[in-house]
Amino acid sequence: MAYQTINPYTNKLVKTYPDATTEEVETAISTGNALYNKWRAESVNSRAATLHKIADLLRENEDELARIATTDMGKLYAESKDEVELSASIADYYADHGSEMLKPTPISSRNTGDAEIFHQSTGVLMLVEPWNFPYYQIMRVFAPNFMVGNPMLLKHASNTPGSAAAFEKIVRDAGAPDGSLTNLFVSYDQVASIIADSRVQGVALTGSKRGGQSVAEIAGKNLKKNSMELGGSDAFIVLSDADIDTAVDLAWRVRIYNAGQVCTSAKRFIVADNLYDEFLKKLKANFEKLVPGDPMDPKTTIAPMNSKRAKEKLQGQIDKAVTGGAKIYYGNEPIDLPGQFLQPTILTDIDKDNPEFYDEMFGPVAQVFKVSSDEEAIELANDSELGLGGIVVSEDVQHGKHIAEQIETGMVFVNSFLVSLPELPFGGVKGSGYGREMSQLGLTAFTNDKLIVTAQAPDWNNSAGGLAVFKKD
Ligand code: NAP
Repeated sequence: MAYQTINPYTNKLVKTYPDATTEEVETAISTGNALYNKWRAESVNSRAATLHKIADLLRENEDELARIATTDMGKLYAESKDEVELSASIADYYADHGSEMLKPTPISSRNTGDAEIFHQSTGVLMLVEPWNFPYYQIMRVFAPNFMVGNPMLLKHASNTPGSAAAFEKIVRDAGAPDGSLTNLFVSYDQVASIIADSRVQGVALTGSKRGGQSVAEIAGKNLKKNSMELGGSDAFIVLSDADIDTAVDLAWRVRIYNAGQVCTSAKRFIVADNLYDEFLKKLKANFEKLVPGDPMDPKTTIAPMNSKRAKEKLQGQIDKAVTGGAKIYYGNEPIDLPGQFLQPTILTDIDKDNPEFYDEMFGPVAQVFKVSSDEEAIELANDSELGLGGIVVSEDVQHGKHIAEQIETGMVFVNSFLVSLPELPFGGVKGSGYGREMSQLGLTAFTNDKLIVTAQAPDWNNSAGGLAVFKKD
């Protein structure tokens, strides 16, 4: 498997990285396992200063790290810088709060003595991460598990090896012990044998349904805990009482950010019939203003897609949707630049029998649907094999919240960007996977939530018989 940076703006091969050898994989696992045993004897808080240092180094090296990410996968330089800052803020959050959040949880029980759940480390984890946020995706799992005391192995996407190596270097430069995070340029088969290794206790994957199914199958066969953060085809519901300008201001931004390559990008715009025509007109006006170009240039507002393969896949989906009856309201014209640009495109008239109706379009393509009631909007939003996020826009926040409660996804935001922050749980249901990253839920995704009951030894001589384990009411 070739781990390569091919700059998607210039199409030039920047660097090829050597594949990991079997010996390197073995060393990484045994170093991680030794660190797990060392960390078990240390307090959670003993790792906080190093995690803060990682955050400091991310910020100090922001420009260079942003340049590496943009060269790897093409996103706007300003977006790469934002990602570095977000990653640093996640590290700071778990450094500040991880120890408190991992304190034992007392349980009120009829058992004699005190019952508590201890949240302890379990061992080495395998992280399989995608290219679309090449630092933040790692940090979502790294920061919580570094505090927990689970050492990690990283298999990053084959097109973002520069970012993978840069992240590993930051961790090392911050003084984290060897094995804290080891980046490996491994093949799928090597990932499978790592998951099967008895020293490895879990796997966290963010990526496509295809990748998730393969890795979850291997994890299941080996009875390894796993979390799956997969794709989304999020609905953006514009209710009949929405302010049209608020709706459109949110809509074009959430569809275009990161060249539309975000799992929680709004992909299906479900608009009340009284606002439909105006919504389309204003969405188009915003798409028309976007300026393709060098992602390092601050004047550029729409970046190339991450790779030739990704662009060709999306173009194929547009073509298939159109053959199946969809109409192009705007876009789908070639862009006269060498990079992997796809003109922002608006599709309408996508019926349920369109071959693309249930597919995730991972790029700058908005599918717009017209509905005549809240019920129809909810039904259409839930008519999806995926269930990651969603946005509802309404002038009446209670109305928006009421609709949000009926959407079958892991996250819904009313009148707001779907933001990802360390205190908020991130994840989905249905084909979008299972488990949550970040928040208390993500922090304990790979802990041993161990019950310890501490009681005085029973006084058998005075016991009335039987097992004297229950407290009297
Ligand atoms: P992908 O092909 O599944 O790749 C993601 C990662 O999984 C890469 O590191 C990839 O390695 C690896 N991988 C894939 N198949 C594997 C296998 N059989 N064994 C071991 N590793 C394997 O995903 P993508 O298409 O690049 O990423 C986009 C998808 O990710 C979209 O569907 C998007 O919605 C989803 N996503 C979800 C979230 C979330 O939090 N829910 C966040 C971001 C993206 P290679 O690069 O070497 O193939």
